[in-house]
Amino acid sequence: MTILIATRNAHKLQEIREMLPGTEIIGTDNYPDVPDPEENGSTFEANAAIKAEAWAKATGLIAIADDSGLEVDALGGEPGIHSARYAGVHGDTAANNAKLLCALEGVPTEQRTARFVCALALALPDGTVKTLRGTCEGRILESGAGAKGFGYDPLFVPEGYADSFGVLPESVKATISHRAKAFQKAREVWAEWL
Ligand code: IMP
Repeated sequence: MTILIATRNAHKLQEIREMLPGTEIIGTDNYPDVPDPEENGSTFEANAAIKAEAWAKATGLIAIADDSGLEVDALGGEPGIHSARYAGVHGDTAANNAKLLCALEGVPTEQRTARFVCALALALPDGTVKTLRGTCEGRILESGAGAKGFGYDPLFVPEGYADSFGVLPESVKATISHRAKAFQKAREVWAEWL
């Protein structure tokens, strides 16, 4: 079975490949002429569904899309669905992380709680769509640590650990992350669909 993963984020694609061993995974780069749909939903789930539905329709394949981000309690859930462009430019990790640290300046450790959220949408070419969510609780450091992973990983320490996702081995993130948890649920949906 071939599954299209509707993301242009090479890190995400790699993490997802490792979570679905034995499945042929292709990315959107195989379809340079298919435009990305506009992600104008107001929730992670809505945006994931928009992407998965559009790509399944365009390619005739089962498509999976992930929409993810970081919710920080002291910031009322921000950056949330705006995580990729929190500082204004899509994917500017250095600026996003700097803005987050600035927004949390002076906030004590016990109030720096946050969670990564991953909504996955699974879509069939006939328009059937299923969405599900995985979360990973943790807290935000006062400065970045480590260079593993991507995005906010150096700032985020998952609950039960002393180090950030920037420091922890990839194998730990692959087991406890928001994306890993969403994919565990997705496997149950496969089982029903196949
Ligand atoms: P998306 O590509 O629109 O889903 O945006 C997700 C954004 O949320 C990324 O650009 C990162 O800033 C952040 N994000 C999502 N998942 C992770 C993760 O696993 N580690 C670090 N940052 C993440």
